[in-house]
Amino acid sequence: VDDRLKNIDPKMIEMIENEILTTPQAITWDDIAGLGHAKRAVHMAVIYPLLKPELFQGIRAPPKGLLLFGPPGTGKTLIARCIASQAGATFFNISASSLTSKWIGEGEKMVRALFAVARVRQPTVIFIDEIDSLLTQRTDGEQEATRRIKTEFLVQLDGCGTSSEDRIILLGATNRPQELDEAARRRFPKRLLVPLPDRAGRRTIVANMMRKQVNSLTDAHMDEICDQTNGYSGADMDTLCREAAYGPIRSIADITTVSVDDVRPIAMEDFAYALTQVRPSVSPKDLEIHIEFNKLYGMSVADG
Ligand code: ADP
Repeated sequence: VDDRLKNIDPKMIEMIENEILTTPQAITWDDIAGLGHAKRAVHMAVIYPLLKPELFQGIRAPPKGLLLFGPPGTGKTLIARCIASQAGATFFNISASSLTSKWIGEGEKMVRALFAVARVRQPTVIFIDEIDSLLTQRTDGEQEATRRIKTEFLVQLDGCGTSSEDRIILLGATNRPQELDEAARRRFPKRLLVPLPDRAGRRTIVANMMRKQVNSLTDAHMDEICDQTNGYSGADMDTLCREAAYGPIRSIADITTVSVDDVRPIAMEDFAYALTQVRPSVSPKDLEIHIEFNKLYGMSVADG
């Protein structure tokens, strides 16, 4: 047994390995539509330092914490999975709210065990979704156990961030960056906006999803879908395509007698209907919050 694990309850290690350590299916940057700026920034900040640590020493040593912020469903989790997959890293996927709800009682010890396992399994990407709920001002009504988990978490985060030998990358994700205070921002010195997909990004998502489906969409149809989906997130586009894909099935009179080959291609009319059912999930007001936060605290878009 590794020295770093010798004071840790084997049951906890097992739990961590079962629940948090995920082997993400291989995913490449091409699976993520658009987001060219974010992808470039992530390479410089995270991927290259993981792959070539010897080039990133001294004043080139990158900060260990990268915050991904932006509206829900824009690809933050995809980016985190892709980083782990491309850097051959162990991937820890933690949702901050499950951290405080699931492990009440043993939470503190679990957090310590988690970071110990992360050290042993380097290189490691620790992805913490909903980081705002861990880092925001603690409320008075909070249970003592929850408070202790948060405190331990901060101690561990700081430990990770300062040890230059460890190849551990902390990725935080949030839809509510405005709730992070100054101390929280300091722990994530690099903050990257993951925005709604632009026109080209939306087109790529539809094209990728339709590639394996029989369809009769022309270029002009694709243009029309892109025109009508301004403000849709990546996840909204995904839902839209799935809704449209149901169209041909819905028009079948007796589903029990139909074979796969008889199903008509997915057509523009299916998208027209889907567009009436699937509306953008991000409000302009939410969007404004991210744009404001980006202006104040985000990484620059100079290379964009
Ligand atoms: P979040 O930003 O909330 O972490 P996710 O990364 O989990 O969002 O994205 C949710 C789903 O939306 C993905 O599984 C994918 O289907 C779709 N999606 C979002 N953004 C993109 C994108 N840029 N390219 C391709 N699919 C996307």
